[in-house]
Amino acid sequence: MPRFAERVAGWRSSLADLERWLLPGACLLCEAPVAEREGDALVCGLCRSRWRSIPGPLCDRCGQPGFAGLECRICSGWPPHLRRVRSAVWLEEAARRAVHRLKYDGWWRVADAMVRTMGALEPLTGRVCLIPVPLGAARARERGYNQSERIATALGALTGAPVRCDVLHRVRETRTQTALAPEARQANLAGAFACAGAAGLTAVLVDDVFTTGATLGSAAAALAAAGAETVDGITFARAMEPMAG
Ligand SMILES: [Zn+2]
Ligand SMILES: [Zn+2]
Repeated sequence: MPRFAERVAGWRSSLADLERWLLPGACLLCEAPVAEREGDALVCGLCRSRWRSIPGPLCDRCGQPGFAGLECRICSGWPPHLRRVRSAVWLEEAARRAVHRLKYDGWWRVADAMVRTMGALEPLTGRVCLIPVPLGAARARERGYNQSERIATALGALTGAPVRCDVLHRVRETRTQTALAPEARQANLAGAFACAGAAGLTAVLVDDVFTTGATLGSAAAALAAAGAETVDGITFARAMEPMAG
């Protein structure tokens, strides 16, 4: 009878084999057959090449291109605690499909491919810890997981940065932000987050999509109030026409 630890190791490797076998033989985004997996990538090279990175020069603070030297209409009204935000790719068709797979179709493994675009984002330089933007309990139950946590975990595995899911919590359900004007988004989010144990952290908030920065701003305020030293934000994608927040 093998020792317990050996048996667990055995189960783990057969589970990994089983999972590999269960992975689809086609790209998750375009359904073209994936001839050779790059690791366990679920997104083909062509789809990944359609994720268009965001060209500089960028606004120092919010990472929006095209505002160098001018007052930025995206971030000029942001709360002071959110230092800077960067996004990897534009939210165009191929990126939108990846976000959709991750968020609504249960394919959280797509995060492994998404984070390969994020590893070089400026806020990740130095010793930082990754903090996923939390979902409310009801939404997390409904989805089964938090998509931002999946991105943060995959990014942590890629970069070695620690991931802290215990620091920031959503204490109040908020209405979905999509249909709200910028001012209404701020009000909708006031007091939405609670935070403990953030003292001295160099925090990088992780989210799937950047739209106005309202969510990141509100989460950053909670982290700063709990003693975080600096708070930056990173997202996989950025809306093509972000609204002033
Ligand atoms: Zn594809
Ligand atoms: Zn800006």
